[in-house]
Amino acid sequence: MKVTEHIEKAQGKTQFSFEILPPLKGETIQSIFDAIDPLMEFQPPFIDVTYHREEYLYKELENGLLQKQVVRKRPGTVGICAAIQNKYDVDAIPHILCGGFTKEDTENFLIDLGFLGIDNVMALRGDAVKSETYFSPEKEGHAYASQLVGQISNLNLGKYLDDALENSAPTDFCIGVAGYPEKHLEAPSMDSDIYFLKKKIAKGAAYIVTQMFFDNTKYFDFVEKCRKEGITVPIIPGLKPLATRKQLNLIPHRFNVDLPDDLIMEVLKCKDNEAVRDVGIEWCVEQSKELISKGVPVLHYYSMGKSESISAIASRIF
Ligand code: FAD
Repeated sequence: MKVTEHIEKAQGKTQFSFEILPPLKGETIQSIFDAIDPLMEFQPPFIDVTYHREEYLYKELENGLLQKQVVRKRPGTVGICAAIQNKYDVDAIPHILCGGFTKEDTENFLIDLGFLGIDNVMALRGDAVKSETYFSPEKEGHAYASQLVGQISNLNLGKYLDDALENSAPTDFCIGVAGYPEKHLEAPSMDSDIYFLKKKIAKGAAYIVTQMFFDNTKYFDFVEKCRKEGITVPIIPGLKPLATRKQLNLIPHRFNVDLPDDLIMEVLKCKDNEAVRDVGIEWCVEQSKELISKGVPVLHYYSMGKSESISAIASRIF
């Protein structure tokens, strides 16, 4: 079932969902099931599975030269989605990127998803590979998520890359895209970011999931701005409970997200990461309660592969 249908069916009741990461290469699917099992009692209508593109490593050879190696540390997004749908009978949403994909790769990826009975897909640009400062698309790929959304929408109309194909079956994907309550890192302004977000919707995206935020007013202001610009699709808030002291520096730097002073001071008082985890849970519970009181359609939690905090929060909310 599509995310938009899940939202309609809930008739205004806030639903619970979460995002997981594929395990590191070499681990088994059991680590995914172990992360999901404790969260199933909160009846998520859908579970997102992130996509991780290749990274470049440089291995020093005996002669001192460096050899470039291409590695994907977390493969398996599509297989995990199939396994989740099969085991839990819940919709799994694979993330798909512009980065590392040609249009042909994208089309084949989407065909696989269609064959597996996957109804939703989250379309993202992806970040620059770690060794590069700026994102660069594949030669035959997309530079922006809006172009990727355009390709998926075309496939939904039965328009494949090979226009000589006859009797080609249309797909029927519900497309999600990312939104940034505190502006995307590279966007010169909030207005320009929302301008391009609107393009993603115009190309066929049916809902938005936000970047994490720790101050709900950022989300409420963002939704208001989007609505003023004529964006009417559901805007699902993404939440992440803080779990380590290190994240105080990492999260603002990596995600262009501000942490409220009150939260920072609470974390600084903590003796260890167990105490930080408790602070993170309390903060996220308060955020969740307020968001529910304002009628958000879904609360979407970033689990980062660890379900303990999410489970502790969900048991007090759902
Ligand atoms: P876009 O919408 O393409 O925007 C990227 C930047 O370009 C923005 O600054 C935007 O304002 C600007 N822009 C857009 N269109 C144009 C244009 N036509 N001309 C000029 N500027 C333009 N990353 C992963 O690698 N794997 C994942 O699974 C993953 N999941 C995510 C899930 C969510 C909910 C979120 C919020 C992020 C996720 N990301 C993931 C991170 C995401 O890939 C990065 O934030 C990336 O840098 C931007 O992706 P986007 O789809 O928002 O890009």
